[in-house]
Amino acid sequence: MINILDLDLVELKCWMKDNGESGFRAKQVSDWIYNDVWKFEDMNNIPKSIQEKLQNNFHIGIPKPIEEHSSKQKDTKKYLFELNDGNLIECVIMKYKHGNSICISTQVGCKMGCKFCASTIGGMIRNLTSGEMLGQIIKSQQLIGERISNVVLMGSGEPFDNYRNVIKFLELVNSKNGLNIGQRHITISTCGIVPKIKEFADLNLQTTLAISLHASTDEIRKKSMPIANKYSIAEIIDISRYYINKTNRRITFEYALVKGLNDSAQDAERLSALLKDMLCHVNLIPVNEIKENELKRSSNEDVAEFKKVLETNNIQTTIRREMGLDINAACGQLRRSYIKSEELK
Ligand code: SF4
Repeated sequence: MINILDLDLVELKCWMKDNGESGFRAKQVSDWIYNDVWKFEDMNNIPKSIQEKLQNNFHIGIPKPIEEHSSKQKDTKKYLFELNDGNLIECVIMKYKHGNSICISTQVGCKMGCKFCASTIGGMIRNLTSGEMLGQIIKSQQLIGERISNVVLMGSGEPFDNYRNVIKFLELVNSKNGLNIGQRHITISTCGIVPKIKEFADLNLQTTLAISLHASTDEIRKKSMPIANKYSIAEIIDISRYYINKTNRRITFEYALVKGLNDSAQDAERLSALLKDMLCHVNLIPVNEIKENELKRSSNEDVAEFKKVLETNNIQTTIRREMGLDINAACGQLRRSYIKSEELK
C-alpha cells in the first residue's frame, strides 16, 4: 500500500481523476492531513465512496512515537519513531530563539561507517521514502504543538545515498500546499559523495549544503571516515568550489574535533589552507563520545585554539552549541540503545 505522503498534490489530483473523482478532492485530503487528521474516515467533507477508495489504496505514513526524551534545559527533544513496517528511526527537535529546528533521518541505519557515529553500527537497513521524511516533521509538529521552521537532514542516513527520495522530499516540504518551509531553511548534510554533490549543484537550489570534512589530510580522514577511501579531500574541495560557483551559496564544513587525531594547531593551519578564499563557514563540533568507540572529545582549550587559528586565517568559524547531550542526542544513539534494551528482554 502506498504512503499518501509520498505523493505531491499534482500526483494526488491525477490519482483522483484516474479513479473517476474530481481533482479538488486531492486538496481537501491534503488539507486534512496537514491539520493532523490521519484517518480517511474522519475526513468529513470527503464522500464515503472516496474514503473507501483511499483506504484501499493508501495509508497515511505518520510515524508512531515509541520514546520521547527532553533535555534538562528543555531546549531539545528527541523522538524514537516506529515506521509502518516496524523499523525505528529517530529525530531531534531543537528550540532556538528564531524558531524550532528539526533534524530528521533519511535512512534506517547507514552504510557509510563513520567511526564517531552510532547510526552506522548495524549497517543500512533501507532508504526512507520522501513521505516518511515528511511524516517525521508532521508528527513532530503535532507533538510539540508548534510550527517547525528549519529542517536539517543530518539524522541517521546519508542523504545523497538516497538521492532521488531526498530531492522529492525537498519539493514536498517546500510546497505552499504543505509545510511551506523555504529552501533557505533546509540544510542537507553529506559525508562527501562527490558525484552527487555535482548533481545537486546543477539543480541550483537555495538550500544549505553541509559537508562533513573532519580532517585536513586524507590519511587522517581515512581513520574515521571510510568514504575517504573513495573520494579525496582535493576532490571534495574542487566540487565545493563548483557548487559555490553554481549556486552562490555558502558551504558549511562540519569538523568534529577528536582529541589527538585532528585537533592540533597544524591541523587548523592545513584546514585554513584548503579553504582559503572560499565562500564557506566551519562548524566545529566537539565529538560525541559513544560507547562503541574509543574517540575522545577535544578539550575546551584545544577547541578554542583551533577556532582561533581558523579565524586568524579569515575562515568564519563557529563552535556548535551542544544541545541534548543528556538525552543521547547524537545521531543513532537512541535507536541503538532502544534496540539493545529490547534484545536483553
Ligand atoms: S555520520 Fe552520517 S554518513 Fe556517517 S555513518 Fe553517521 S549517518 Fe552515516
